[in-house]
Amino acid sequence: MDIAIIGAGAAGLAAASVLQRDHKITLYEQSAQIGGLWNADAKYEKTPIYPSLRTNLPMQLMQYPNFDYARLFDPSEPEELYNYPSYTRVLSYLEAFTKEHALSQKIHLNKKISRLAPVEEGWDLHFADGQLGSADAVVVCNGHYSEPNLPVLEGIETFQGRIMHAKDYQKPDDFKGKQVLIWGGNASALDLVREINTTASQIFWCGHATSMSEIAAELPQVRIKSDPIGFEGATVVLKSGEHLNDIDTVLFCTGYRYSFPFLDPDLVEVDDNLVAPLYRQILSVKHPTLAFIGLPFLVIPFPMFLIQSQWLRAILNAPGRLPAPSTMHLESQREIKAHLRLGKLKRHFHRLGPGQVQYLKQLIDDAELDPMPDDFFTLLQRIQQLRQDYPSDYRRMAIYPPYPSHQPPA
Ligand SMILES: Cc1cc2nc3c(=O)[nH]c(=O)nc-3n(C[C@H](O)[C@H](O)[C@H](O)COP(=O)(O)OP(=O)(O)OC[C@H]3O[C@@H](n4cnc5c(N)ncnc54)[C@H](O)[C@@H]3O)c2cc1C
Repeated sequence: MDIAIIGAGAAGLAAASVLQRDHKITLYEQSAQIGGLWNADAKYEKTPIYPSLRTNLPMQLMQYPNFDYARLFDPSEPEELYNYPSYTRVLSYLEAFTKEHALSQKIHLNKKISRLAPVEEGWDLHFADGQLGSADAVVVCNGHYSEPNLPVLEGIETFQGRIMHAKDYQKPDDFKGKQVLIWGGNASALDLVREINTTASQIFWCGHATSMSEIAAELPQVRIKSDPIGFEGATVVLKSGEHLNDIDTVLFCTGYRYSFPFLDPDLVEVDDNLVAPLYRQILSVKHPTLAFIGLPFLVIPFPMFLIQSQWLRAILNAPGRLPAPSTMHLESQREIKAHLRLGKLKRHFHRLGPGQVQYLKQLIDDAELDPMPDDFFTLLQRIQQLRQDYPSDYRRMAIYPPYPSHQPPA
């Protein structure tokens, strides 16, 4: 098959490395370099990455299971920096992965897909530069950290201060002496609160994550508050009824939206951030030659990208493994209904969290893939425990002494 892969971030590179074993693949990347969000522009304007960002997972867990981080970098450096490095090292890791799999010749940089249209024998590809192309199958790996989710709050237009999203954050100095409201309890918020605490005069931190109070207890400038519901000029009104006056800056750490501007909405629908109808959160039920790698979040991304890609390879090589379209449709609806019946929000459908283990095992079972190494699940448990027990300084903890990957390179 002739397969087009959209995006040369960590998901697209994983898909390419796996699918090229049996197919002719071409990656189309809109920017001038591979790496996706780890490839920060000089001014950090187009990426959610900021200069001081370090990984929030140890590289031994982040890495693709078939491409060992330890063989590239020197484990004799301080353990904390080795395990949780700066974002530049993740980019180097992805560049090395690209080289290892000889992908460079198959990547077309500065090539943005503007439209994908199904035709009788596959797909027409329309590029932003006006050129046309075609493919038998398309794998969408366009990421989901570029469209900020900005909540609409009553009176927000009357606020005179600065409104930002985590994607705009660059450095703590921008908050010097300011009264700041931060909304959100995700991984970015946990890191940004700690950084901004070093410069702001006061931080009101709104959200519900369990680790928030523990982190706030160690940060003198931070006070936990209920969610904001509206604005009256520089005053923010909270759900609790409290009014916070003289707020200078509001920083929304409220996540991102899935966006597929190159797909007609009748191909795939995004409703309250739920992408459907898909089978196993990968394959379009309407067009089984259209796939998405990397949609689930609150997961261990790189290993998941690889397993999803291996599942897709097995399906493309033996379409008989797939149930009938009507069964896939019912299964997709059943999963969504089961999720909603538990009282969960639509927009959390792709947020797997602890469910990721079951999800990966299901893909492995479906496609009869090699099981993940036991080390992976042991380390995953260990990291989850460390993050729960030490939300402020889990990066300083020994991750799994003696972890097999923490050995001198051969
Ligand atoms: C602030 C932040 C910190 C994170 N920290 C970690 C961490 O520590 N560890 C971890 O494992 N994960 C982390 N993540 C998650 C991270 O998103 C994943 O690890 C992973 O890098 C995402 O890869 P991706 O390929 O899905 O998306 P992206 O990296 O966003 O790549 C998508 C690519 O598609 C391209 N593209 C988009 N549209 C088009 C188009 N129309 N035509 C052509 N090309 C297109 C983009 O230019 C981009 O290169 C973090 C995320 C954020 C936002």
